[in-house]
Amino acid sequence: MKENLFGFSLPQLEERMVALGEKPFRARQLFQWIYERSVYDFDAMTDIAKRFREVLKEQFVLSLPKVFRRQDSADGTIKLLLEMEDGAKVETVLMRYDYGNVVCVSSEVGCSMGCAFCASGLIKKTRDLLPHEMMGQILAVNGILAEEAQRVTHIVVMGTGEPFDNYDNVLTFVRTANDPHALAIGARHITVSTCGLVDGIRRYANEGLQINLAISLHAPNDEIRKRLMPIARRYSVAETMEAVKYYEATAGRRVTFEYILIAGINDRIQDADELSDLIRGTLAYVNLIPYNPVVEKPFQRPSDRAISAFYDRLKKRGINCTIRKEFGTDIDAACGQLRAKYERSKP
Ligand code: SAH
Repeated sequence: MKENLFGFSLPQLEERMVALGEKPFRARQLFQWIYERSVYDFDAMTDIAKRFREVLKEQFVLSLPKVFRRQDSADGTIKLLLEMEDGAKVETVLMRYDYGNVVCVSSEVGCSMGCAFCASGLIKKTRDLLPHEMMGQILAVNGILAEEAQRVTHIVVMGTGEPFDNYDNVLTFVRTANDPHALAIGARHITVSTCGLVDGIRRYANEGLQINLAISLHAPNDEIRKRLMPIARRYSVAETMEAVKYYEATAGRRVTFEYILIAGINDRIQDADELSDLIRGTLAYVNLIPYNPVVEKPFQRPSDRAISAFYDRLKKRGINCTIRKEFGTDIDAACGQLRAKYERSKP
């Protein structure tokens, strides 16, 4: 089977070039063609000898996922359902913030974390996504943005799947996204989000990366968290906080806690108080996410008043926080909704 070049990190590709009897420099040349010039045809790579281009064609492919469905929102958000070589369908979303073009990447086909509120988990994980399939999501969006002379500037690994359940592939992908010879997206413009796999957080702390880490906390204590997230039965909130402190000390960086606000579940003022007591003493920052309702789920978004009250309370108690801007509410923007809808409608 031919290998997809979009899945290689620069060091991996250099090694392969040497194995093929070439100079390691060939790898950088290839990266220049594909990542700087968006040329995905070996025959167009004119500074590479014709004979070696034939060797490359025998060994590698440069193929991207196919756009299977596309939804455009009035606010410029674009949601793609991408089809992989084996037919697997994966969601990718482009959001346009004033600071840049943010792509939300899926890391697995389906998800087995089973969070009670989430549409992605409606379909269990069938397999990991490979590095080239995550890179393919970015390059597919770059293809669309090229028409506007723009490109992807930020990546959040917050689509379907649990990144730390597919650790090695996700790390290869984010390293290549960050590599100045590849996509060259700044480490601080890339965020990996985990539902709280504590072993993964500790491992990530030791990678020596500047890439941001977000943790889906969603509750101030074990009792509420267990109602929302099965992972809370494996790791307590206290163990998660220990891992966060380890990350702060080892990586020298702060985490972002994601906290979905769900009416009547975790949005009371006493929850805000408990949350602020929990994270005081860390450097962490809280991103409040008004719940995006999913038809299959019984949960509701709190009123705007309740959302502001929760935010004000955290602020008053000295916690750094923001309310996440909502995008594409007219186009099934909640995680996994487009794919779930498609899978339901399939004959
Ligand atoms: N598995 C990882 C990344 C994917 S989920 C994680 O759990 O962090 C990305 C974020 O979207 C998580 O914080 C998740 O809890 C949140 N999310 C999922 N469904 C949502 C919904 N319907 N409304 C708002 N946020 C949602």
